[in-house]
Amino acid sequence: MPELPEVETVRRGLMKIAKGRQIRGIDVYYGKIIRGDVEKFRQNLIGQTILRIDRRGKYLLFRFSNDLTMISHLRMEGQYFSQPEGGPIDKHTHVVFHFTDGTELCYHDTRKFGRMRLVPTGTEMQVGGLKTIGPEPTSEDFTVDYFTKILHKSRGKIKPFLLNQRHVAGLGNIYCDEVLWQSRINPEQAANSLSAEQIQALHDNIIKEIATATKYKGTTVHTFKNALGDAGGFQDHLEAYGRSGEKCPRCGTKMVKIKVAERGTTFCPHCQPMPDDQVLPEDK
Ligand SMILES: [Zn+2]
Repeated sequence: MPELPEVETVRRGLMKIAKGRQIRGIDVYYGKIIRGDVEKFRQNLIGQTILRIDRRGKYLLFRFSNDLTMISHLRMEGQYFSQPEGGPIDKHTHVVFHFTDGTELCYHDTRKFGRMRLVPTGTEMQVGGLKTIGPEPTSEDFTVDYFTKILHKSRGKIKPFLLNQRHVAGLGNIYCDEVLWQSRINPEQAANSLSAEQIQALHDNIIKEIATATKYKGTTVHTFKNALGDAGGFQDHLEAYGRSGEKCPRCGTKMVKIKVAERGTTFCPHCQPMPDDQVLPEDK
């Protein structure tokens, strides 16, 4: 699933291939991608111009000239790409926006989990997952005070805590494993038991990691490509995710993969130990 750096990379690509384009027509080949009435969706957008594309967490926000916003979530495998009018459409292309300049923007999604939804601009934060979304992982929006407060209220483990978009926006499986490894925190440690030092380290690493991965245009696993068809470059910089069985880059211990809240999770048992009081008797 694309995480914040990948979605931001898609957004930047869309600014190049969709911004300022006027919609001449829309073909919808798989109606479930669109929330609400498909015909209404088409009628609302035909003739409109895409003013810009914003992002909040993993949501893309297409701003249209008639004060409508299309919320687009890529979920597992959604992709946008541009091609000249009449280019090839395969069975995974579900929506095509035809522009008046002779290009078209195609939405491609092998898993069909992605969704688009049209709302009046300004009401998007009252809809679905955006209603409860946490701060962006930047130093302006995401403070240590806030992070400390919500961690102390938690009753769960730290990894699922970070995956929850209500706490902080944009993290998924890859960047959670990375920041926990960087911060030397066991993915199963109780979120409300993190020390002030651990909270500070994790906070700083989240902000730094997301910014760095965005600079590298995200991580390419499976099929992620940005809207211009380029693959991201951050996969060569991952230190924990996908490295189970390999040596920890910091200490040389063999990295281990476990399941935490149903998600594959890679960590270093030496650098990321459980605090003594949280080790179950049978594990000692
Ligand atoms: Zn290690």
